Amino acid sequence: MSNTIENIKCLIIGSGPAGYTAAIYAARANMYPVLYQGTQPGGQLTTTNEVENFPGYVDGVTGPEMMVQLQQQAQRFGTDVRDGWATKVHFSGDIHKVWINDTKEIHCETVIISTGATAKYLGLPSEQYYLQTGGGVSACAVCDGFFYRNQEVVIVGAGDSACEEAHYLAKLCTKVTMLVRKNEFRASKIMVDRVQKTPNIEILYNTETEEVLGDGQLVTGVRVVNNVTKEVREISCTGFFVAIGHHPNTDIFKEFIDLDETGYIKYAQPGSSKTNVTGVFVSGDAADKTYRQAITAAGTGCMAALDAERYLASLH
Ligand SMILES: Cc1cc2nc3c(=O)[nH]c(=O)nc-3n(C[C@H](O)[C@H](O)[C@H](O)COP(=O)(O)OP(=O)(O)OC[C@H]3O[C@@H](n4cnc5c(N)ncnc54)[C@H](O)[C@@H]3O)c2cc1C
Repeated sequence: MSNTIENIKCLIIGSGPAGYTAAIYAARANMYPVLYQGTQPGGQLTTTNEVENFPGYVDGVTGPEMMVQLQQQAQRFGTDVRDGWATKVHFSGDIHKVWINDTKEIHCETVIISTGATAKYLGLPSEQYYLQTGGGVSACAVCDGFFYRNQEVVIVGAGDSACEEAHYLAKLCTKVTMLVRKNEFRASKIMVDRVQKTPNIEILYNTETEEVLGDGQLVTGVRVVNNVTKEVREISCTGFFVAIGHHPNTDIFKEFIDLDETGYIKYAQPGSSKTNVTGVFVSGDAADKTYRQAITAAGTGCMAALDAERYLASLH
């Protein structure tokens, strides 16, 4: 461990829409924020080609381009944007300690956690290939469903979110085939009823994905196997949606911050960004398993900076 300790007013951990928005507000409020980007500078949106639903971009924007602009906007007001990964924290009293890359120690009056969440994928090479090329694999129906309107899609998953996403897709697409690994859903009865009653959703139970098929550029179908009968079949589709959950990036905080059973940070107070630790605030997908959108992440980033600013004002 290094002996050099840096004292700052506001540390922002994470460089997605939540972190950069918090930085814009904190910098404009003279909090001299330091922001660490983590291993995915720009966050989840850097993995997507088209963002069409963020207000203000009439013709849409690519995810990477939007995140570069957000970073530049945060830097314009003086945010100190740095490479580095928060590896350990110690939250107590008025000064919170955060270690970067296990070496640098920072003492902070306020901390804004904006570490986001990571979508889970099946891990098939073909799935990863078409995810990377932007050719038809997605983990977000609300974000990408529109690109598949009037087309046939396949969705994998059996929980409440999967049911909600299948239902959302059914309103846009001609047909949705839902692959459920077991012979029943994990979702609540009301959500299962809803998908079962939707005429253009076909549910295939005991069914697993073997391979995402395509022409090298775009997805053209999926090869699946029934894990009971061992029957293999191909389903034609242009979009393959994976709805098997997210992993919130909150492991390093769990000793100090209240998390729910799936690891999302719990808000200490409805309508605020406060956590159970005074001076530590949260924004974005690290605390949001419901909406998971760039605009909601940005909105809560604004809330966190304003809450942190008011907290500092109450101290000094
Ligand atoms: C493929 C895909 C397409 C999407 N398309 C859209 C869309 O079109 N429209 C839309 O509104 N939303 C879309 N989303 C959702 C959107 O990307 C997220 O809701 C949003 O990015 C969440 O923002 P965030 O700032 O909370 O976290 P993230 O974007 O997840 O960023 C988290 C940041 O935290 C950093 N980090 C994590 N842990 C640490 C640590 N220990 N130390 C330092 N840094 C750390 C990471 O490096 C990253 O920079 C999409 C998501 C995916 C996966």
